[in-house]
Amino acid sequence: MHIVYSDAHYAHAPAHEFLDGKLIPYQESPRRAEMVLQAAQTAGLGDIIAPRDFGLDPILQIHDAGYVTWLQHIYADWVHSGGTATGAVADTFAMRGLPNRPQKARAALGYYSLDATTVHTAGTWAAAYQSAQCALTAAQLVVNGASSAFALCRPPGHHAHADLCGGYCLLNNAAIVAHWLTQNGNLPNAKVAILDVDFHHGNGTQAIFYARSDVFFISLHADPERQYPYFAGAATERGSGAGLGYTLNYPLPAGIDDANYLAVLKQACAQINQFAPSYLVVSLGVDTFGGDPLGDFALTPAAFAQIGGVIATLNLPTVFIMEGGYAIEQLGQNVINTLRGKDER
Ligand SMILES: [Zn+2]
Repeated sequence: MHIVYSDAHYAHAPAHEFLDGKLIPYQESPRRAEMVLQAAQTAGLGDIIAPRDFGLDPILQIHDAGYVTWLQHIYADWVHSGGTATGAVADTFAMRGLPNRPQKARAALGYYSLDATTVHTAGTWAAAYQSAQCALTAAQLVVNGASSAFALCRPPGHHAHADLCGGYCLLNNAAIVAHWLTQNGNLPNAKVAILDVDFHHGNGTQAIFYARSDVFFISLHADPERQYPYFAGAATERGSGAGLGYTLNYPLPAGIDDANYLAVLKQACAQINQFAPSYLVVSLGVDTFGGDPLGDFALTPAAFAQIGGVIATLNLPTVFIMEGGYAIEQLGQNVINTLRGKDER
């Protein structure tokens, strides 16, 4: 399996975040990608490829132009206007009913932010841009005939909306790739399924495709009644307009084990089969692992190979996009187990 990876992510290394009311080290750290890369190399998973540059166009097909410009300027404007050099983070949010939409980048921080977990440093835009290019390069490999490819994206993407960053995400890599595949695949107007197996609901991806019938979004995740992102991911959210029925959510209980999780995954894959897509995009988060500091599921390392095996039964050209996973020591192995499980069937 080809692995697409860029060192640019090292430049995005915020120091801290608030979690559960405590200031803690930033969980979405460069060490994560390092561990996954190391595990892929040790396992001899495949060749490591640098991303090609597809430019801004595929990003602007998904993201609001004002938001993208803002991402490019927020850190400099933040520092210029007296913000700490360690990183820009929102502390005031554009909630319902507030009338003003600011023009200055720093003032717009809370307009373009979903939460306070997404910190912008000097290298953040470059890292997010290259992360999206990794995803697009993996998609190109699959269009060119690879049965699957893995984009080792960092920062992750599935919480990012068209004009909102959040949950460590800035550009929605899975959404950028899914739309790109509908336009650039080998078939005209190809249908694409996105399977999101991250512990957290992919609120951004859902919002982006909510009214579309050519991209089917299906997600297994922690019930938003108890876990981030709280305001999306209920089973009642099923799409709107032409997209009604093309979003499916499986909110799951705390402590779910391998067998129960895999049973839901098989059901989800049967629904993907019915949709009959030309391509599959997997938002691959492994924070479903029992030891993950941000999760409350109970999956074992062996479950990940089985997840890959279930995905393989779909027999679809597949682009894997790295999302979450924060149990640093086990992270690489869980990712590799999933990809191996797909490859070995
Ligand atoms: Zn997650």
